[in-house]
Amino acid sequence: MSPAISPDPTVHRLRSRGARVTSARVAVLDVLTRSDRALTHREIEDGLAGMRVDRVTVYRVLEWLTSEGLAHRIADDDRVTRFSAAGDSEHAHAHFKCGACGGVYCIPTGPALKLRLPAGFRAGEVELTIKGTCAHCAA
Ligand SMILES: [Zn+2]
Ligand SMILES: [Zn+2]
Repeated sequence: MSPAISPDPTVHRLRSRGARVTSARVAVLDVLTRSDRALTHREIEDGLAGMRVDRVTVYRVLEWLTSEGLAHRIADDDRVTRFSAAGDSEHAHAHFKCGACGGVYCIPTGPALKLRLPAGFRAGEVELTIKGTCAHCAA
């Protein structure tokens, strides 16, 4: 019996965009998708340990994923840039920063957080960071 080939959702996501599927792209997107919180460049490299993806390639892949809307960049007040996998419809959402562990999480915004802009104002990017304690640290 031959083992069933399970369709890899990450590969599928890249293919469905007509993107060139490289092992580095799949690996980096995979690390981001598997994490429940945003990752720093360093953490992404750690997640790729043993995969022989060099630092420059990681930078390039992150640039590419960001420009393709497959990941987004979160600039923090501590000047650390973190990355998170994002679906196409998740552009406007909030971030939650835990004061205890420093973890940054993407938070989908419900209707309660919809902001009403004055007439004539047009939103570009929305950046909203909630500070507090994450579930891991509050437990
Ligand atoms: Zn925490
Ligand atoms: Zn986010």
